[in-house]
Amino acid sequence: ERAYRVSASSVGHATDLFVLVFKDQSETRRIDRMRADFIANASHELRTPLASISGFIETLRGPARNDPAAREQFLQIMQNQTGRMARLIDDLLSLSRLEMKPYLKPGTEVDLRQTIDSVIDSLGPLARENGVVIERDYAEGPLDVPGDRDELFQVFENLLENACKYGQPGGRVTVSIAGGEAGPEPGIDVTIRDYGPGIPEEHIPRITERFYRVDVESSRTQKGTGLGLSIVKHILTRHNARLSIKSEVGKGAAFTVHLPAG
Ligand code: ADP
Repeated sequence: ERAYRVSASSVGHATDLFVLVFKDQSETRRIDRMRADFIANASHELRTPLASISGFIETLRGPARNDPAAREQFLQIMQNQTGRMARLIDDLLSLSRLEMKPYLKPGTEVDLRQTIDSVIDSLGPLARENGVVIERDYAEGPLDVPGDRDELFQVFENLLENACKYGQPGGRVTVSIAGGEAGPEPGIDVTIRDYGPGIPEEHIPRITERFYRVDVESSRTQKGTGLGLSIVKHILTRHNARLSIKSEVGKGAAFTVHLPAG
């Protein structure tokens, strides 16, 4: 695709050298298409609440001008829509920040027990709202892995938030950390399990895609952007970690993150 002329002095030879760089065109085109799709999806997702807000403003200035009950109801809807836009923008910013720094800073250890405890604390209000009880089952001993604490916090926050949102209302969610050398690859497994409606098998391979939401009642009623699991996947790739998803419809879902020991 491109040819660079490398000057003789810089390579220590008498004659000029040509270095040819070949790039797979179809791969470049695929990435361009993905980027264009992404921008189209993101714009659509932002436009939808904006159109709704704009419609309600018009109604409030016109037919509903002197109707206090309607005004209250419409203002509430508009506030919900701005919340939706804010969530979407936060998720888009997270994705773009991750893309701007493609490599992880080496050399930091993350204490998973402490990190996951603070995730559980931060989700206390959501769990209470949905009547969900979060249970912990942590292995003994040190539960540290190399990684970025803020990014791993975001991974477990997204997974636990989903378990609270899509799990059984009034049910329980378990968070387990199983450590050490027991498995085939040394590392730590964190599993977040809920006992809700689960995910139909055909959707499982697609739920980490950007904007993908399973079209079931719970996704329609729960707030979300469809970006959470794609952020999780992005962060885990940088940590050389794996995500495995197991689910039986009607019985719940279990998301296991395997973080390598180093
Ligand atoms: P969001 O929650 O913002 O919609 P995610 O990327 O986090 O986006 O999740 C994508 C979709 O996967 C959700 O909309 C939901 O349909 C499904 N999903 C995720 N976690 C669960 C779960 N624990 N149980 C059932 N469905 C889930």
